[in-house]
Amino acid sequence: MADAPITQDVLTIPRKLPEGPVNLVGLTRDAMRDVLIANGTPEKQAKMRVGQIWQWIYQWGVRDFDVMTNLSKFYRIELAERFVIEIPEVVSKQVSEDGTRKWLVRIAGGHEVEVVYIPEEGRGTLCISSQVGCTLTCSFCHTGTQKLVRNLTAGEIVGQVMMARDDLEEWPIPGAPKDETRLLSNIVLMGMGEPLYNFENVRDAMKIAMDAEGIQLSRRRITLSTSGVVPEIARTAAEIGCQLAVSFHATTDEVRDKLVPINKRWNIEALLEALRAYPKVSNSERITFEYVMLNGVNDTDEDARRLIKLIDGIPAKINLIPFNEWPGAPYTRSSNNRIRAFADIIYKAGYASPIRKPRGEDIMAACGQLKSATERARKSRAQIAQEAGLG
Ligand code: SAH
Ligand code: SF4
Repeated sequence: MADAPITQDVLTIPRKLPEGPVNLVGLTRDAMRDVLIANGTPEKQAKMRVGQIWQWIYQWGVRDFDVMTNLSKFYRIELAERFVIEIPEVVSKQVSEDGTRKWLVRIAGGHEVEVVYIPEEGRGTLCISSQVGCTLTCSFCHTGTQKLVRNLTAGEIVGQVMMARDDLEEWPIPGAPKDETRLLSNIVLMGMGEPLYNFENVRDAMKIAMDAEGIQLSRRRITLSTSGVVPEIARTAAEIGCQLAVSFHATTDEVRDKLVPINKRWNIEALLEALRAYPKVSNSERITFEYVMLNGVNDTDEDARRLIKLIDGIPAKINLIPFNEWPGAPYTRSSNNRIRAFADIIYKAGYASPIRKPRGEDIMAACGQLKSATERARKSRAQIAQEAGLG
């Protein structure tokens, strides 16, 4: 059978809908300046106006032009006629026994994506999505079985962060003393989709999240996870500079081809070469290697030893993810003893090897379980097994 084409040819909707006002959320500072000028703001004032509007939107969480009291009444009315400040709409919210929150949000076109918040001691991580579904078809991933795919716009990506801040009631009040503890302190791009197949929108959204006059998250608190889109890795280092995680999952090309099919395009060697260059260019410390533990597939002592050899010389942390099962999944989770033995070999070689604790399992919020309810065009169990080379 010929390999399925690996494509990033997915629908991206324009920021401006054919009819109606422009959404300011997700525009870079330059783009916002351009739309303000195009709509009559004098060029000389445009930069200052961007600064003011930016702060209202991203620092204070304001969505109503009328509240922007450092702008004249007349200008506020003009803005309200031409622009909107819109973020994805929450369709439903579930809270797990462990405090994890999962929201289903609706974006333009009626599509839905999931967003997960994981509270931890003194901090909290928001897991956001970059696409509806995913064009890649990793055989252990629930999202990969969803057929329909669309890239999220930058506004829809940063809008997930804004939505979570709304729900966590974490927007500061103008004039109030700065509160340093943050409920939402970290972002991981580990929800639905392959972020590096939607590079520009992810970059613009993360630049907004990092902007010092807005959401103000440091690039060290943002982690982008990729399945291994090799040509975009260097760009991520240069243009975003966030932390990088890579879905490694196997130690031979034969097994990785089955688990992470993008490996057929860029194999382990090509991937490692790109990863070696990453820390220097992005000035980040370590790369996180994600490794899903699949019973009898990739979890032997030999795998652990091979993994250590492969990553030699790369500053790394190995994050072991016990496989999260979903209906129809062609794999089972490795036993706790097996995972611990695997972790131990890696740890003894000098690498941190934390075992990721599944969070929010009772609400299907754990890694790889995300998939929007409206688009359950699920492949059959037989089809999944066949593609995984198990059929
Ligand atoms: N597309 C990107 C980011 C989203 S997936 C990527 O693949 O890296 C986030 C992480 O969860 C990835 O490491 C992915 O391989 C892992 N994952 C997917 N399905 C899983 C499952 N059923 N159990 C455990 N981890 C899973
Ligand atoms: Fe896509 Fe990541 Fe799932 Fe693979 S693991 S199908 S790249 S979301």
